[in-house]
Amino acid sequence: MAALVLLPMEVSEAGWLSDVSKSPSKPGKSPKRVASPKPATSAKSAAKPKRHTVKLAALGPVALSPSALKPVATKCDPQKFRIVLDVGHTADSEGAISARNVAEFLFNLRLARRIEEKLKAEGFAATRLLVTEGKARPSLVRRVDAANKLQADLFLSIHHDSVPNSFLENWEFEGKKSHFSDRFSGYSVFVSRDNPDFKTSLSFAELVGKEMKAEGLQYAQQYTQPIMGRYQHPLLNRETGVYSYDQLIVLRKTRMPAVLLEAGSIINRDEELKMESPERRDIISSGVTAAVKEFCDPRWAILGPL
Ligand SMILES: [Zn+2]
Repeated sequence: MAALVLLPMEVSEAGWLSDVSKSPSKPGKSPKRVASPKPATSAKSAAKPKRHTVKLAALGPVALSPSALKPVATKCDPQKFRIVLDVGHTADSEGAISARNVAEFLFNLRLARRIEEKLKAEGFAATRLLVTEGKARPSLVRRVDAANKLQADLFLSIHHDSVPNSFLENWEFEGKKSHFSDRFSGYSVFVSRDNPDFKTSLSFAELVGKEMKAEGLQYAQQYTQPIMGRYQHPLLNRETGVYSYDQLIVLRKTRMPAVLLEAGSIINRDEELKMESPERRDIISSGVTAAVKEFCDPRWAILGPL
């Protein structure tokens, strides 16, 4: 139901998703579209973003029109292609706390740095790591402003997942009362249908999801479930794990294709250990880098969906 998915989220006590959550739009009201920026240099601007045709009647997997699933033709010079890697949350507002009491911000920073290294090693020299300071809410505006000023070609926000507070269970870690939930695991990819270039955002999101899957990872499936309450989101593609999350400021106010990756759950005790390992960071970074390369390679668009 449209009203459900458009409800703005409240900042949870744990700070889970708080840095990416609220937009000032009213519940049940579709926010106004942001005007497109000056024409981008890449061929992607040839495909004008169209109003999405996704039906919100069901919160299970929803049908996209065939045109929405077609890859958007993109072409870019890796040397000049500006990717902004947004490190989710800040040192002051650290996001979720893991099962072993490590701040999400630290996980995000380490992973984003590794992705930056890999992209640069592959020739994407204009990749920028965006680390924002300050409190949660103002930091959202700051990161959007920074990406818009940089005239980024692509915005990728890096996060790690947790659960709503009501799912948390108690345990003791190193003598300290701690919280966990082993109920869910996996990555997820989010886009906003209110991004001025939703179609290209979705194209890139699909590539990220496809590469995560190719790396042997599974996406988090709980977001379609009613138990998620206000965190419930429509699944746009059941193959790749791409969800829509329309009201996220960093996805809808950025004037370029924008995607948010929840790389994995750090509240799940097993998955936290994996997310902490350099090996998992390598796997995810390789997947993201492969997705960017495909996004920038026009041959992929000619070949069609893989
Ligand atoms: Zn986060």
